[in-house]
Amino acid sequence: MSRPRIGLNCDVTVAASGAEGLALNWAYVEAVVRAGGVPLVLPPVSEELLGGVLGAVDGLLLVGGRDYDPALYGRARHEAASLLSPRRMAFDLALARRALGDGLPTLGVCGGAQLVNVALGGTLVQDIPDEVGTELEHRALGGSSPFHTVEVAAGSRLAGIVGEGTLEVNSSHHQAVEEAGSGLRVVARAPDGVIEAVEGVGRAFVLGVQWHPERMLDREEQLALFRALVREAQ
Ligand code: MN
Repeated sequence: MSRPRIGLNCDVTVAASGAEGLALNWAYVEAVVRAGGVPLVLPPVSEELLGGVLGAVDGLLLVGGRDYDPALYGRARHEAASLLSPRRMAFDLALARRALGDGLPTLGVCGGAQLVNVALGGTLVQDIPDEVGTELEHRALGGSSPFHTVEVAAGSRLAGIVGEGTLEVNSSHHQAVEEAGSGLRVVARAPDGVIEAVEGVGRAFVLGVQWHPERMLDREEQLALFRALVREAQ
């Protein structure tokens, strides 16, 4: 059997000269490879090329980054929000909407989970420390080791992948899902109630996790998230 092709969105960099480039954390590439997929990086081209881009992949891994414009979910911008480049933001939103509409298997990680939610009409907490006022620090930056636990909902697709009950996760985010988007349900929360995972209620594979499983690939249950995406894309 040929290996499924997994498309990954990526970030836009701007050099001192003003020249734009692309950036993607290698851990996402590693995750797709170890899960048995072929990673294909999708540059944020204009919307008229979207059909061609999506025709080249069997599944989608939406990666993290800075914040999406709160205007997308009808909010004024919080001072702590640090927005993605307009080029990436426009492409990501169009990509996610089209892919979800087409039922393309999709896994969102961190900002990718927030993108899935916004693309389906949901809202975000723009700044957890300010808007939730939790004692739990969700911004343990870059961490590959577990930082807090989440409670995985029994009977969910997520539970079928990582197991039911308590799961140890890392945490590198200051935003989170607030109201789940249309066709999504909340399937994991941190002990402070912050939403840590959402999934689609329909047949299509749609899963968003707020932590970074790609930085914990030595843990079988974390690698299993990418294996599930690749299996669905097969
Ligand atoms: Mn967290």
